[in-house]
Amino acid sequence: MTAPKLDPDEHPWVQRILPPILHDLAATCAVPFEIRDVKVELRAMAMEVSFAVCAPLGSETHVTFLGTGKPPQDIADLADKMQDVATDALWFEGLSKVWPECPEHPESHALRPTVAAERPVWRCPLTRKVIAEIGSLPGRMAQSGNA
Ligand SMILES: [Zn+2]
Repeated sequence: MTAPKLDPDEHPWVQRILPPILHDLAATCAVPFEIRDVKVELRAMAMEVSFAVCAPLGSETHVTFLGTGKPPQDIADLADKMQDVATDALWFEGLSKVWPECPEHPESHALRPTVAAERPVWRCPLTRKVIAEIGSLPGRMAQSGNA
C-alpha cells in the first residue's frame, strides 16, 4: 500500500519502453496479442510495470517487469521477457516458430534483444550482427511460410 499507483497513460517510462516491443510483436509475430490491465508502480530503486498478455486461443499470461528506469536496457530486458511469452504462445497455437525469426538465418533461430551503442537492438546470436533497433522490425510475410 506504500507504492503510489501511476496511470500508465501518463507515465513516460512505460510509454517509452512498451510501444517498441508491441510494435515488433504486431509486425512480425504470427500470434496477435492484446495487452490489458497495464499497471505501473514506483519502487525504491526501480520501476515496475505489469500487464496481461492475451492470445486469441484464450491463453493469458501475466507479465511483471522490474526495470531500472533507463529505457535502452529496460526495452531490451522487456523484449527478452516478451520473447518468452511469444514463444510460448506460438507453441501453444501449434506454430513451431521462433520469435522474432532471424532474417539472415530463416527457420533457424530467434534474434536476441540486447543493448548496442546505447540503443536497444535485436541481434543475430550467431554472427552477433545487429539486425534492427527494437521497435523497428519491418512487417514481413511472417505467416506465409515457405509453402
Ligand atoms: Zn541469425
